[in-house]
Amino acid sequence: MGGGSRALTDLLDQAKARPQALDEDARTTLLSLEDPDELAALFAAARELKERYCGRTVALRGIIEAGNVCVKDCRYCGIRRSNANLERYTLTADDIVRLARLDARLGYASLVIQSGEIEGETHTAFIEDVLRRIAPLDLGVTLSLGEQTEETYRRWRQAGAVRYLLRIETSNPDLYARIHPADHDWNRRVACLAALRRCDYQVGTGVMCGLPGQTIRDLARDIGFFAEIDADMIGMGPFIPHPDTPLGDEPMDAKRRLSLGLRMIAVTRLHLHDVNIAAATALQALAPDGREQGVRAGANVVMPNITDTKFRRSYQLYAHKPCLDENAALCRGCLERRLQAIGETIAYGQRGDSLHYRTRAKK
Ligand code: SAH
Repeated sequence: MGGGSRALTDLLDQAKARPQALDEDARTTLLSLEDPDELAALFAAARELKERYCGRTVALRGIIEAGNVCVKDCRYCGIRRSNANLERYTLTADDIVRLARLDARLGYASLVIQSGEIEGETHTAFIEDVLRRIAPLDLGVTLSLGEQTEETYRRWRQAGAVRYLLRIETSNPDLYARIHPADHDWNRRVACLAALRRCDYQVGTGVMCGLPGQTIRDLARDIGFFAEIDADMIGMGPFIPHPDTPLGDEPMDAKRRLSLGLRMIAVTRLHLHDVNIAAATALQALAPDGREQGVRAGANVVMPNITDTKFRRSYQLYAHKPCLDENAALCRGCLERRLQAIGETIAYGQRGDSLHYRTRAKK
């Protein structure tokens, strides 16, 4: 072994010994690794930690894409308000309840409801009604419905949601300003994350990796941000340019973006230890086995799509979205095979609460 490898082994040992052992420079070093042997060591260390906290199992959450109507105009996102090149749809409460039952039947025991961003009493009451109707199914319900008032978050929590995923997108406010219109406010997103914590959600956040102008140091700081807000869950993935958006012309190097996404998962695991980390579907858009690679790099959650096939085409946040022509049953079989192939079993029948949250709640 050369001197570089010795230093790397020491760094990885330090990271494994206790949470938050990596300073910003160390995280930057790890995120910058390119050598295949060194990357293999990084991923192995992260997977070892995943196994320490989650075993050789992966938790599944069915994701329902409840609608693509959105008031936001994020410059990277395929369902942004100004994109006229797609059909807008909104699932009915009956649709969502039916899919939640399907989720329960598939044994996932855990559900994510995601949609474009809508605010106001009608929408708040709609989601509240859905949550009350699915409560008897006893699923661990995650919401991913964007920025809302604290009052709305509280009502949804009381109606049965236990987790909320709101990506900060980037912890760098200047970069945030460059990828959003002027009226989108980074500070509000931070305030929303604090409000979610006050409402006693398991709080999830995350970023996109490979944004135009984003540096490795930005990503190292993103992981610092996750630690600072004491996040329970992390959902992050590579940025993938969507042709019908202002950032659609960004050069696309799938390999590089995938590798960056995997390194972010690994270093996040090494820094935060016991949080839930999702292997985002965007990884699968870059390689057929992208999610498995995510698990091998330290992720412990996969979110199979259970939205009806006919709506999947209208919910394309990024290009090359996979599984457009599949249905929930196909996705389940496919995932089982894929995860088995890398030596993981699926944690069926578990609500999948974040270990980090449970540990904090006990303190
Ligand atoms: N409206 C909700 C959730 C829907 S968007 C919210 O604001 O939280 C879900 C996530 O998709 C976003 O947080 C963003 O990180 C991701 N996303 C959007 N466009 C993307 C793109 N072009 N490439 C990769 N991820 C993208």
